[in-house]
Amino acid sequence: RTVYVNGDYLPEHEAKVSVFDRGFLMADGVYEVTSVLGGKLIDFEGHAKRLERSLHELQIRKPMEDAALLEIHRELVARNEIEDGMIYLQVTRGAPGDRDFAFPPAETEPTVVLFTQAKPGLAESPAAKTGIRIISIPDIRWGRRDIKTVQLLYPSMGKMMAKAAGVDDAWMVEDDHVTEGTSNNAYIVKGNTIVTRHLGTEILHGITRAAVLRFAQEAQMKVEERAFTIEEAKQADEAFITSASTFVMPVVEIDGMTLGDGAPGPVASRLREIYIEESRRAAL
Ligand code: PLP
Repeated sequence: RTVYVNGDYLPEHEAKVSVFDRGFLMADGVYEVTSVLGGKLIDFEGHAKRLERSLHELQIRKPMEDAALLEIHRELVARNEIEDGMIYLQVTRGAPGDRDFAFPPAETEPTVVLFTQAKPGLAESPAAKTGIRIISIPDIRWGRRDIKTVQLLYPSMGKMMAKAAGVDDAWMVEDDHVTEGTSNNAYIVKGNTIVTRHLGTEILHGITRAAVLRFAQEAQMKVEERAFTIEEAKQADEAFITSASTFVMPVVEIDGMTLGDGAPGPVASRLREIYIEESRRAAL
């Protein structure tokens, strides 16, 4: 596999980053994951815009213009012959040389790494046909979840808690209300209304979330952006998650409680179809 690191395209075993990199030492960096379908990028502009915002919030220098970033994405898709899969992009505050809590001088070069992961048949995921099962766990993350940092230890632990419980993923709960999934935004459906948490610092502003809510409104579905409890979720007709890598994924069980008849619901299934179709059409 060919990866990108700081201006070079290299075989993955030759790509190197300093041991002093603040991404490595302090999780001082941000990332984006963009899906590839049919060799084209899904929602690239949304991801580029959010990257810029994350960098700005942390005062990390923006390493290049969006057009240059798009070129690197395309070059990696071509060099690695990616038909379906994802591109991971990470920008850290770089490697100043000494470990120090204070940010290094502004001229320190950020470290930029991109690599691809092939996922043949990404849009035809078998899990979308059966739906996934989730548990709820406390949300003990830091307070700026709207910044897409590489600080992913608790989400990783959440996935392990789900695995230990014999299910697929976890939703996080704070002050009795669901914030989001470990790596996705959370939704419930009651009657013909889709409910998902409002934007704020408590959740990541999902790029897939923005697109799906737009498509839902265009399809005359009713959307409420507000917090909901796990109890309300267990009584819902349907539930689902969204993320760049899973698109729209139905949820059929929450904390051992089966939703509806235990099969993916019509709203989630329809939104998945629309999202994949529209995203393919608009892909770069
Ligand atoms: N929430 C969290 C915590 C995430 O990690 C992610 C994606 O990685 C999302 C939501 C979904 O965001 P997006 O749709 O931009 O992939």
